[in-house]
Amino acid sequence: MKATQDRVVSLHYTLTDDHGLLLDSSRGRDPLAYLHGHGHIIQGLESALEGCEAGFNGSVRVPPADAYGEYDPQGVFEAPRDQFPPGQDIQAGMRVQAEGPQGIVNFTVLSANDQGVMLDANHPLAGKTLNFEVEVLEVRQATDQELAHRHAHAHGHDH
Ligand code: ZN
Repeated sequence: MKATQDRVVSLHYTLTDDHGLLLDSSRGRDPLAYLHGHGHIIQGLESALEGCEAGFNGSVRVPPADAYGEYDPQGVFEAPRDQFPPGQDIQAGMRVQAEGPQGIVNFTVLSANDQGVMLDANHPLAGKTLNFEVEVLEVRQATDQELAHRHAHAHGHDH
């Protein structure tokens, strides 16, 4: 069975950046199961898996535009320190949330001192080319309930 719209695909993946740095992997955990054609995984990977069957083993290279977008220098700005709770320990590398006009936004802290906190609104993987090693384990029809919920039910996801 081929991976097409509304089928459930289970796969193992290992994700590295262009320097070979390991970013994420499903190895050693449950495989990733998703409902194909709904944008639940990054666009470039979903397109590459279109038509694949169980047993497919391969490399998929996804440029930033089809992954988490280009890095936007405008996303970096300084927020006054007093916008954060006084007792909160704020350190470079932390992820923080703030409520803006468009709702909750996630930021990465670049640096912090007593006066201000440098924040980066870019996704941590923005600007990165993603290299997936993918092994497709199973492709199956979605159940009526999965189609109604518009997501895959697998690995303890049950309701
Ligand atoms: Zn559900």
